[in-house]
Amino acid sequence: MNLARYARQTILSEVGLAGQTRLKKTRVICIGVGGLGAPATLYLAAAGVGTLGIVDFDRVDEINLQRQILFDSTEVGKLKVDVAKRRLEGLNPEVLIETYPCGLTAGNALKILSHYDIVIDGTDNFAAKFLINDAAVRLGLPVVYGSISRFEGQVSVFWAKHGPCYRCLYPVCPDTPVMNCAESGVLGAIAGIIGSMQAAETIKLAIQGTDLGPLAPLLGRLFVLDCATMAPFIFQVPKKTGCPACSIPVDQIHLSDLTEVCVAKLEELSVMELMNEIGRKDKSVALIDVREAEEWHDGHIPGAVNVPLSLLSKTRTLPAGLGLLRRVVVYCQSGMRSRQAARIFIECGVPSVAHLRGGMVAWAEVM
Ligand SMILES: [Zn+2]
Repeated sequence: MNLARYARQTILSEVGLAGQTRLKKTRVICIGVGGLGAPATLYLAAAGVGTLGIVDFDRVDEINLQRQILFDSTEVGKLKVDVAKRRLEGLNPEVLIETYPCGLTAGNALKILSHYDIVIDGTDNFAAKFLINDAAVRLGLPVVYGSISRFEGQVSVFWAKHGPCYRCLYPVCPDTPVMNCAESGVLGAIAGIIGSMQAAETIKLAIQGTDLGPLAPLLGRLFVLDCATMAPFIFQVPKKTGCPACSIPVDQIHLSDLTEVCVAKLEELSVMELMNEIGRKDKSVALIDVREAEEWHDGHIPGAVNVPLSLLSKTRTLPAGLGLLRRVVVYCQSGMRSRQAARIFIECGVPSVAHLRGGMVAWAEVM
């Protein structure tokens, strides 16, 4: 270990050579290298964590660059884990970087996480957060949790062995509408603040475990920062009796992929609202008919383009020529297929997506 590199932190009496050595022996896994994972992994690599695993299925997209500071403009289109590995190894060749170019699923979560000591939750959706929690509770691992939306960020440490888990705070996946960054927006610097705090919490856990002292981790406490007013709050999170994850024997915790359950709120337009949008003739808004070609030829809303859901579900990418859209409004026959299509456009990173409630049926009633 090149001690000169770490001199500014080993001089801290709470760290010292002993703490630095423990950090070097620690294996950390970061789920998601997006807005939170990027600053978290950069600071952890710089600090000399021994092994850093990164899990992400995604490729660098231009829309990521506003906050995902691991990536630069020349890397658009490349696998995030590949770019991250190169960048982090360049920053600190002493850190072993292990990459998983896949999503975390109920099928692979235990296998991947079991190789590590600390889990960082850098994801942006409830489904992933519940899966990470349940896998970590089963394996007895601490999770350094982070979450961001608009101007607000949250950080906590969940560790069922020594305190509450994520389900002690949120027992089940919420069925009320919740928006993710793609829908509600986020200030890039908030991701930097919260991701950096996750790195700090991880380092504290690595060098001293759960010992309460001057470096007490945010175990049992939820830190919430509203950057619009810069008002910080710390909420106590008690361990919950009857928690669906950490109050039952670990072998009874069944992991599941909740993607279909945790659907975010989708903006719905009435026929009148859609007519107003069409009337504004805003060139950055596209009206897309996601019905099949035969249905389209039988009649459609003037100004719409036809991209059948059957095609969109296969490619799951924006059709050529629609790459720079700011807003997409989709419709189908009755408002069911357009919901699915809208989700795909949200996944593709279109900043604003809405669908027509009731589809062509509702349109025909008014026209
Ligand atoms: Zn719990």
